[in-house]
Formats: sequence, structure tokens, C-alpha cells
Amino acid sequence: MDRRDFFKTSLLGAGAVAAASSPLGLLSGCAPKAKKSDVKLHLSFQHGTPPGESLAEKFDYMEKLGIEGYEPGGKYLLSHYNEIEQNLRGRDIKVSAICAGFDGFILAEDPAVKAAFDSSMREIIDAAGQIGSVGVIMVPAFNGQKPCLPHTMETRDYLVAQLRELGQYALQHGTTVILEPLNRKEAFYLRQVADAAAICRDVQCEGVKCMGDFWHMKEETSDYAAFMAAGWGYLRHVHIASKGDRTMPGEFPDTDTYVQGFRALKEIHYEHFVSFECGCGGDREVLVPAAVQLLRDQWAEA
Ligand code: MG
Repeated sequence: MDRRDFFKTSLLGAGAVAAASSPLGLLSGCAPKAKKSDVKLHLSFQHGTPPGESLAEKFDYMEKLGIEGYEPGGKYLLSHYNEIEQNLRGRDIKVSAICAGFDGFILAEDPAVKAAFDSSMREIIDAAGQIGSVGVIMVPAFNGQKPCLPHTMETRDYLVAQLRELGQYALQHGTTVILEPLNRKEAFYLRQVADAAAICRDVQCEGVKCMGDFWHMKEETSDYAAFMAAGWGYLRHVHIASKGDRTMPGEFPDTDTYVQGFRALKEIHYEHFVSFECGCGGDREVLVPAAVQLLRDQWAEA
């Protein structure tokens, strides 16, 4: 299957085709008609989540658990592209998203830093499209990245224009750019899912989408409202971790409930991945399968 065929048949392709056939859907983010109970949970692991030394060992482990997505970092994707591509052949695992890995940042004041972002991000987008990834995750600016353009309306307009160019490039390569909101301690510029979705709306390009990360979403007033605000039209990826200390979901039973967020995902007919981005506070062989079971149980309950 070549890249174009993969794109047509991937989860992303199904959504894009549905959206393209419905201009109203594009504008409003309306979900396609389906029963909430038919919406399936598609789990994904970042590279470090499964036990195992080699990619083959990791993928074997993931297949046994029914994990359908693999999320490498951008630098790892570029340096291990052939190995990843060969190890995915014949498996029920697809690349979910690519987690950053570029140099520089899009809101850099220094032209050399911005140029480093432009070239390295496009290199990762190209590889992401070739391997069939839903998108490449990016943060516009971390608090520690300086000098940064000021947080003004002019900067937002600039960001929207820059993202439109990047999104068009991503679409040409069969993938998307996915904005990740963090929280005010890490990335003051973009910290809520609804704000990321509003940027996507203003960019007006199907190549620019957003995501939510249950760990960072502690700043949201409601997981349910955050995902509903983004809706089917803009939400393209989800990260998950224990809400206690960013270890495996379930390590902090008092806080690790995702039911409200999952209910929103089901109601908007979210069809992409929920990907583990977390550490592990104990025995991976015990805590990873327990986390997977917890999420499946909570998805069923939602
Ligand atoms: Mg994240």
C-alpha cells in the first residue's frame, strides 16, 4: 500500500473524506451520524511505554494487548525510519502521531531559530506523511523558549498565518500539524483545548488540528467541556497519563478518572488515538496491562 492509499484508508482519511463531503461539517465540526456505543477506543503507546528492548519486542507486546497505535518522537522517526517501517509491516499497529522533535520554535523572535523550526518541522512532516501518521504534535512556544514574540493580537495573527502555510504543507504530504495546549507553568501561550481549537478554526486549513492531554488538562474546568469545545472537526489526538504524577493511568486511583473526558470523546465520535504519554512508577509488566484495562473499563462506563 503506498502513502496515498494508506491515507485514503486510514482513520484520518475516513474523517477527511467525511468532512470534505460536508461543508457544514467542516465549519461546525459536526460529527458523522453514528451511535455513541459504536465509537471504539483506539489506544496508542509512545516509544518508551511498552517493555522490550527492540522495536519488534515492543510491537509484539503491544499487539498482545490490542494496542493499535505507536507514537515515536520526531528525531527517533527520522533516525530509525526504515526500522520502524519494516517492523510495522504485517502488524495491526499504525503510527498514531509523531511527538515533536523539531529544532527551534514557531514563535521565535530570532530568525535563525525560526528558520531551524521551519526546516526541521517540514522534514518531520514529510516522514510522518510517508509512514501514515495522523499528524505531528507541536507547541507554539514553551515558557523557557526565549526570545519569543510577545503575547499580542499581532502575534496570534502571525501564528495563524504561519500555521496555514505549515498546514498546507502537511496536507500535501498526507498528514497534519497538531497543536498541543499545555498549562501556564509550561507554555503560557497555549494552555486550553478550546483555545487551540479556536486557532484551528481561524487557520481554516484541514492540515491544522489540535489535541488534549489529560495531564495538562488539569487546568481545564472540565475534561468534558474541553473536548466538546474542540469537537470532531478539530480534535485529532489525545495524550493520557495518571493525573496524580504523570505515571501510568491508575497509579493514583483517587484522581485517575477519565470517564467525563471519554464521554465527550464518544459523543463527538472521536475516531483517532488515545496515546500513553507517561512514566511508570513500578513494574511495567504489571502496571501497563492494568492501565490498559482501566481505560477500557472507563471507556465502557462513559
Ligand atoms: Mg502531551
